[in-house]
Amino acid sequence: MSDNVLTIRDLSVHYRTDQGELKALRHVNLDVPRGSIVGVVGESGCGKSTLISSIIRLLATNAVIPNGSIDFENQEVLKLSEDQMRDIRGKRISIVFQDPMSTLNPVTSIGRQMIDIQYRDKKSQAEKIKRSVDMLESVGISDAASRLKQYPHEFSGGMQQRISIAMALQAEPALLIADEPTTALDATLEVQIIHLLKSLQSDFSCSILFISHHLGVIAELCDYVVVMYAGEVVEEGTARDVFHHPAHPYAEKLLKCDPAGIPEKSRSLPTIPGEIPNLVSLPPGCIFKNRCEQAMAQCDCIVPTWTESSAGHFVSCHLHSSE
Ligand code: SF4
Repeated sequence: MSDNVLTIRDLSVHYRTDQGELKALRHVNLDVPRGSIVGVVGESGCGKSTLISSIIRLLATNAVIPNGSIDFENQEVLKLSEDQMRDIRGKRISIVFQDPMSTLNPVTSIGRQMIDIQYRDKKSQAEKIKRSVDMLESVGISDAASRLKQYPHEFSGGMQQRISIAMALQAEPALLIADEPTTALDATLEVQIIHLLKSLQSDFSCSILFISHHLGVIAELCDYVVVMYAGEVVEEGTARDVFHHPAHPYAEKLLKCDPAGIPEKSRSLPTIPGEIPNLVSLPPGCIFKNRCEQAMAQCDCIVPTWTESSAGHFVSCHLHSSE
């Protein structure tokens, strides 16, 4: 039995569209070791949202899964019944979304919402209120008992995100999926939320799958990093390895685009020129070749193999292939 809370193997997810089958995820492997924080990084369109929807099995109706498996706590998620999935969602797997106002109900008090989500627990009302107060305090909301009566709009954006995190952790999940939870916040609040997640992860002993397009944030918080590009995993390793020694040209470019890492004053932010290829008709060879400054002849026609560039640091790029 593995000590991963989540193990994804060879997962592909396609969407049926009028233009043809859009191959949103292809042969993805991902491990979340118990008690660790794993970051998934990549720009829009890399497949991060499809990955999350697959894990909680809330894919769009035009999605098909031609191959792969998702093992969560030694259960094959893709084979569970809807009732079994309902037991997992919100209890064993919780999610914090980018925009807290899409999580919180604007017309219901925070207290009512925090009590309602404990509907599975056989506790008294007083115990549920106490639990809600404790959770708000654990995320740094002062005077929590009286603030239970307030509505979401009476809190700042950072406070709303803290409340979303409190609600997500209330059921003590084994896995917390944080889907770009700091993207809508300013830089100061971003740092606060990252530190909060880090301390809560050790208090609650849960694992976190942290999704972001921002490699700097991932490096600050995560133990392991998975870099995704156009529906594929292109690099994987410890946060230290990927951040200090990125092996894939795409990861290198992502790091150079981090505003915190720009060495000199500039009026323009660095970007990665070019676009993600059409996922309906995939080009041959390396998926990143049209944007890669180091592309070689073989990149045009040969798909790079998964190679260990250093101990525990894997990459899919001909620059590191021994063949
Ligand atoms: Fe660039 Fe070639 Fe590596 Fe692809 S395989 S990232 S095109 S060097």
